[in-house]
Amino acid sequence: MLKKSVSHVMLATVAIAVAWAVPAALGQDAQTILSNVSKAMGADNLKTVQYSGTATEFAFGQAVNPNSPWPGFAATSYTRTINYESPAWRVDRVLAPIPQDRRGGGLPPGPTQTVVIGANTSWAQQVDLWMTPYGFIKEAAKNNATATSKSMSGRKYTVVTFTAPNNAKFNGYIGEDSLLSRVETWIDTPMLGDTLLEVTYNGYKDFGGVKFPTAIVQKQGGYPTLDLSITDVKANAPADIQGNPVGAPQTPLATSQKLADGVYLILPAYAALAVDFKDYIVVVEGPQSEERTNAIIAEAKRDIPNKPIKYVVNTHNHFDHSSGLRTFIAEGATIITYQGNKAYYEKIFALPHTLNPDRQSKAKKKISIETMADKKVLTDGNHVIELHRLQGSNHNDGLIVAYLPKEKILVEADAFNPPAQANAPPPNAPTPNNTNLMQNIDRLKLDVETIIPIHYPADSRKVTMAELMRAVGKRD
Ligand SMILES: [Zn+2]
Repeated sequence: MLKKSVSHVMLATVAIAVAWAVPAALGQDAQTILSNVSKAMGADNLKTVQYSGTATEFAFGQAVNPNSPWPGFAATSYTRTINYESPAWRVDRVLAPIPQDRRGGGLPPGPTQTVVIGANTSWAQQVDLWMTPYGFIKEAAKNNATATSKSMSGRKYTVVTFTAPNNAKFNGYIGEDSLLSRVETWIDTPMLGDTLLEVTYNGYKDFGGVKFPTAIVQKQGGYPTLDLSITDVKANAPADIQGNPVGAPQTPLATSQKLADGVYLILPAYAALAVDFKDYIVVVEGPQSEERTNAIIAEAKRDIPNKPIKYVVNTHNHFDHSSGLRTFIAEGATIITYQGNKAYYEKIFALPHTLNPDRQSKAKKKISIETMADKKVLTDGNHVIELHRLQGSNHNDGLIVAYLPKEKILVEADAFNPPAQANAPPPNAPTPNNTNLMQNIDRLKLDVETIIPIHYPADSRKVTMAELMRAVGKRD
């Protein structure tokens, strides 16, 4: 205890010295500033840190509608362990029960999330580590940082800046207390282009010789993605984090199954449907990324040669289901989406993509969007695609399904994500999304035999209506 209070006093002395030094230090080189901040925060010999408390996490790009913030989920306990040397981190959390009426998507797949950084780990995948207070100090010290001064909301900051490997600025705001209070940078995301990442650090306290913020709020694209209240911090705690390094995502080549005359299923997931209309192709879904969508476009053209893709149907505005829409715009296609998404898409598709220019940022095609309310029918006299908006969905306000009456096929996203195995035991209680889909099928009197989930199971099996019936506790 005595030792602890002595080091606390010593730290406070250092902090005061630095606080005096910073205003006089404008023009002082960034390395000196960083080294002073590192000393003040107790970071000089810090190789690992573990911090814990409670959290609300929010799912980026998974809002229930385009005017809502990212939807949250609470963790009653949240522990993050970071090893700055390996480098790697792990989050262990205990989720609070998910309310039945929660609106939006993006629930986490499990209680643990491990990220091990290796040679092939993209900057976007590792940036979170370097935005932590100690991570910033370590990364800035290695990257020819410069320093300027800035006033924000009536407070003075020394801003230490370096250029990240993705060519974006990486800024750390150091307050007059010589503690890091804000870090910001930009990464490319397919929907928002150059996307602001920001994190604020408040309520610094001393935890056995290191200073650490007790209130952390992280934002991406203007809305919170993490809100943390820290109660415990352990410096240099054991942090042997196992796992394979996170690498660039693998996009398997697209393959097709002919479902019916002129109707093709493009796999693997995210799945898409291509339909051969008289003079053009209609594709349902432009998901994930430009890379995946280019593969879907190429496959649709192999299935249906010598016709342009005129329409892409967008099931909903969640980013995993719409991150290929800009690629379809560059391809010259018109987007069909729920009317509530049009103004939003027009706004965000005009945002700059300087960090990772995509096809549309070069093609600069006019954005063409056709909207629908509850129902829209596409037909060439032979093929018919009925588009219906699901009523009462908690997942998304503008969730569109595509029904092909002649083929008895229903394409749906996130309303029913089938289990890996067809004969998996049904859930103890039907999920609200599965039940909602069943209610809408009944309401619309759709005669469905085959379901095409955009989140297609990896075994590529035919998913039948019987699977949905079982999931909602109905016997067929
Ligand atoms: Zn969704």
